[in-house]
Amino acid sequence: MRTLVWFRGKDLRLTDHLPLLDALRGGEAVPLFVVDPYFFAPSRARELPNRMQFLVESLEELAADIKARGSQLLFAHGKSLDVVPQVAKALAVSRVVAHRWSEPFGIERDRRVAAALAAAGSRLELFEGETMASPGQILTGQGTSFAVFTPFARAFAKSVTMATPRPAPRTLPPLPDLPASASAWLGPAPTLASIGVQKNEFLTPGGERAARGRLAVFARAAAAQYDEGRNLMAIAGTSRMSQDLKFGTLSPFAAWDALREPLAHHPKAWRAFSNELVWREFAYDVMRSKPAVLTHPFRPAWEKFPWREDQAAWGAWVEGKTGYPVVDAAARQLLAEGFVHNRARMIAASFLCKHLLLDFRLGEAHYMKHLTDGDWASNNLGWQWSAGCGVDAQPWFRVFNPVTQGEKFDAAGAYVRRWVPELAKVHAKYIHSPWTSPPLELRSAGVELGKTYPRPIVEHVVGRGRFLAAAEGHLRKP
Ligand SMILES: Cc1cc2nc3c(=O)[nH]c(=O)nc-3n(C[C@H](O)[C@H](O)[C@H](O)COP(=O)(O)OP(=O)(O)OC[C@H]3O[C@@H](n4cnc5c(N)ncnc54)[C@H](O)[C@@H]3O)c2cc1C
Repeated sequence: MRTLVWFRGKDLRLTDHLPLLDALRGGEAVPLFVVDPYFFAPSRARELPNRMQFLVESLEELAADIKARGSQLLFAHGKSLDVVPQVAKALAVSRVVAHRWSEPFGIERDRRVAAALAAAGSRLELFEGETMASPGQILTGQGTSFAVFTPFARAFAKSVTMATPRPAPRTLPPLPDLPASASAWLGPAPTLASIGVQKNEFLTPGGERAARGRLAVFARAAAAQYDEGRNLMAIAGTSRMSQDLKFGTLSPFAAWDALREPLAHHPKAWRAFSNELVWREFAYDVMRSKPAVLTHPFRPAWEKFPWREDQAAWGAWVEGKTGYPVVDAAARQLLAEGFVHNRARMIAASFLCKHLLLDFRLGEAHYMKHLTDGDWASNNLGWQWSAGCGVDAQPWFRVFNPVTQGEKFDAAGAYVRRWVPELAKVHAKYIHSPWTSPPLELRSAGVELGKTYPRPIVEHVVGRGRFLAAAEGHLRKP
């Protein structure tokens, strides 16, 4: 039997790829990637340059790996709904296999593609694999979805069997001859030039090999101290594999499996690390059970929350000019590297929603535009958690103090010095609150507040008080 294996940007690997293995078991597998203008039109790709760069690099490696095994990744240009049935017909395949997507738009696309294939006498079969538990699989005793992480994690531990990642196939069958009609959709692999994106040298490189390399480095070095190191913003204390899980250059089972043995004698580190992978599972589960979270607060009481409109404050937060060094470092790391340390994400997100009282959805969209790991489920969960309106959220009345957070998790100020170079020479004692420095000392560090670096855009107590008053007024309404 001939099967089309539809790689879809979230499974850009050959290792632990269940649809591919299933197709090979059934006979002949034909690998396909659809270059859909929804993502690849230059006007659209330029809106997501970091993720598109990672995607293009990962695709390039995938195509090369498939070629090295004797086959060829076909690039079909057009809308999935149109071209997948066309390719299926041209190659006379009886089924198309792919990994399941959980985003509402992915579910809808698959519903339509499945219907179009069925009408043409073929079928779409979806496989789990983006997460370890299929979203919706883990339910409370009452058969409902979990809204709190800890019981979800407990149920996850009980019900999910950890699978050993399957090795990549050594060879692949050669492509069948393509009919002349294939010229209607067959095209070249996308490149950065073809999608109009300029290469950013500071991004994490794409591809399955680089992903495995990152995992190996983490397993050898930082993993054993992960429980403590993960919070320190200036060190490489985390795995840096979020974009790999997002694009599927690593499977979640592979990530879990690769760390279990190295952390066997580091139970605290293992608990902390595996917990983070389960947070990702939770995020997907929430999005699947309540897709409205992508546009609305999870907690209905937060509807019509009195968020402010303030272009100047928004611009300062985006550019990293709020006058709070750690918030500014996070903003600038995002724009430069397409990545932000998790602790810095929490501080920056909290500052936007609470001190500036700006809608979390603004920050969420900005992160989705620039993060290489920008992921609908995890990003939404992170933003709603930070704002206080999400599932198992940080309580709304807890407001991070960006100064004490900085002092605790970037004590020497190395994270700030790296991303806010105009403060590089400020003494560690004042690096997170330069306005408290003796003026002479500040001057000798080359800083003039209001000129070389902004004064705080809002005082901590004022911002905190404004948010608490707004939240109390809104949430305590009968
Ligand atoms: C406001 C905000 C926005 C976020 N947006 C995203 C996003 O778009 N994409 C994304 O992958 N993560 C997001 N996160 C979660 C987290 O910040 C990143 O996953 C993490 O920083 C990635 O770095 P790492 O791979 O070194 O993580 P590690 O600390 O090494 O963790 C290992 C893996 O666990 C997963 N993980 C860790 N923390 C979380 C979490 N809180 N929620 C869900 N999964 C988690 C990630 O897949 C990560 O790669 C966000 C968090 C916040 C507070």
